[in-house]
Amino acid sequence: MSLKYLLDQKGHDVITVSAYETLSNVFSILTDNKIGALVVCNGHEKIVGIISERDLVRAVAKHGERVLAWPVESVMTSKVVTCSLDDNVHKVMEKMTEGRFRHMPVVNGDKLLGVISIGDVVKYRIQEVEREAADMRSYIHAV
Ligand code: AMP
Repeated sequence: MSLKYLLDQKGHDVITVSAYETLSNVFSILTDNKIGALVVCNGHEKIVGIISERDLVRAVAKHGERVLAWPVESVMTSKVVTCSLDDNVHKVMEKMTEGRFRHMPVVNGDKLLGVISIGDVVKYRIQEVEREAADMRSYIHAV
C-alpha cells in the first residue's frame, strides 16, 4: 500500500516552524497540537530541518533550561530524510527503523504534502494484519 492511502486517511495538515523560532515556543506548539515533531521551513516553504521532542530532551539534559531561549536551528536535524506519496508503507517503516526516527515529511519535489509518523504506520499495519486474519478465517470456514 502506498503512503497516499495513509495520508488521505489521516489528513494532509502539516505544522511547520521557522528555524528562528525559540525552543520555548516549540515546546508549546508540540504540546498544544499533541504531536512529537515539527518540520522546519524557510520563508519559501522549503524544508530546512526537522525538530522532535527527542532533540528538546537532549538539549535540556545537556544545557539546562537556558536552551528555552535558543532558536530551533541550534538543535534541529538539517539532513532530513523524506518520502513520497508513491512510497510503500513497509519501505517507510524500514527507513524509520534503520534511521531511528519516528517522523517523515512526505514531499513531491520541494512541496511538503504531509507528515507520516511511526504511529500512523503501526496503526495501518495492525489494520492490515487484522484484515489478513479475517480473510484467513473466512477461507478456512469456506473449505
Ligand atoms: P524522532 O524519533 O522522530 O523523535 O527523532 C529522533 C531524531 O531523529 C531527532 O534528532 C530528530 O531530529 C531526527 N529526525 C526525526 N525525523 C527525521 C527525518 N525524517 N529525517 C532525519 N532526521 C529525523
